[in-house]
Amino acid sequence: MEHARIADTDMKVSRIGLGTWAIGGSMWGGTDREASIATVHAAIDNGITLIDTAPVYGFGTSERYVGEAIADHGDGDDVVIATKVGLNWKGKKIFRDSRPERIRAEIEASLDRLQTDHIDIYQVHWPDDETPIRETAETMKELYDEGLIRAIGVSNYSVGQMNEFRRHAPLHVSQPPYNLFERDAGEDVIPYCAEHGITVLSYSGLCRGMLTGKLSPSSTFSGDDLRRKDPKFQPPYFERYLDAVKKLNEYALWRYGRTVMQLAIRWVLDFGHDGVALWGARTPEQTDPMPGALGWSLDEAARVAIEEIVATHVTETPERSLASFLGPPHRSRITL
Ligand code: NAP
Repeated sequence: MEHARIADTDMKVSRIGLGTWAIGGSMWGGTDREASIATVHAAIDNGITLIDTAPVYGFGTSERYVGEAIADHGDGDDVVIATKVGLNWKGKKIFRDSRPERIRAEIEASLDRLQTDHIDIYQVHWPDDETPIRETAETMKELYDEGLIRAIGVSNYSVGQMNEFRRHAPLHVSQPPYNLFERDAGEDVIPYCAEHGITVLSYSGLCRGMLTGKLSPSSTFSGDDLRRKDPKFQPPYFERYLDAVKKLNEYALWRYGRTVMQLAIRWVLDFGHDGVALWGARTPEQTDPMPGALGWSLDEAARVAIEEIVATHVTETPERSLASFLGPPHRSRITL
C-alpha cells in the first residue's frame, strides 16, 4: 500500500481515497443503503484508509452511510474521514454558504451523522464570493483550535483564494479536480500546493466514470444523474473521449496488464501530485480494482504514449468549464 501524509498532521492515508458522492444518491441517479455500506466496507478491506464525503451528497445521506459503515467495521478507527462544509440548501436548491453561522451549524450536523466527536479533514466545498474569505478561514481556525477538526482544507479554490485563506488560518489540504482529461489544476493549484506544503486530494480521477472503459456512445444516464448535462458526455465530445479511453485501455493491458481505470489513477499519482486521488464508487465490486492501481508506476515511455493517445483522439474540448455545471450558485442567485 502506498501512503501519503496529510500536511502538518500525524495522519497517514492510502494514496487512493474512496469518494462517496454517488453513495449519497442525489445527482447520481439514486442510491441503495446496503450497497453503500458494503461499498465502504469493501474499500476498507481493500486497504483504503481515506474516505471523502460531504453533507450535500444526498443531503446528509452519504455522511450517514459512511458513519454507519465505519462504526460497524473492525478497522473503522484507522480510517481518516474527509468531509466538507460551506454549502446550504432549501428543498433541493443548493447554494454556496460559508458564513460563520452556517459552518457552526453544519459541523454539529456532520458530527452527528458521522457518529464522531471530531472530523479528521474539514474542507470548504466551494468558494463563496458573498462571504469574506477571512470570516470563513477564521471560523475554520476556531474549529481547529477547539480540537473539533484535525486538518483544514478547501476545495475548488483558486490560488488567489488559497492565498487569502492562508492569511487567516493554516491550510493543510486542497481538493481540486484532476484527471487525464481535466488538467487545469496542474497549471497553478497543484504547483502552489507543492510550494506551500499543502496536501492535494484530487477528485474525478476517473472523469466521472468516463475513464472506466465501461461506457459506449450509446450509454445513457437516468434520473438526476449529472452526466446528463456534463458536456463531455454529450456529442460530439463523448465519442472522441471514448475513443481515447479505448486506446488507453489497450495500452494499459499490453504494457502493464492493467485496466484503463488503474492507468488513469496511476497517471494522477505519478504525474499529477504526491497526495491522494479520490476514486468514486457505489458498489463493493467497484472498489476491487483499487489496490491494482497502487504499488507500481508509469515510466517516461508510458507518459509519452498516453499523451499521444489523448492528443490524437481529443482534438476539441467543451468550452464550458467544470465549475460552470458542477459548482452550485451563490446565495443571492437563487430564489428561496
Ligand atoms: P470519479 O471517481 O471520476 O468516477 C466515479 C464513477 O466511476 C463511479 O460513480 C462509477 O460510475 C464509476 N466507477 C468507479 N469504479 C468503477 C469500477 N470499478 N467499474 C466500473 N465503474 C466504476 O467520480 P467523482 O465522483 O467525480 O469523483 C470521486 C469523488 O471525488 C466523489 O465521490 C467525491 O467524493 C469527490 N468529488 C468532490 C467534488 C468537489 O467539489 N470537491 C466534486 C466531485 C467529486 P457509475 O456511477 O456509473 O457506477
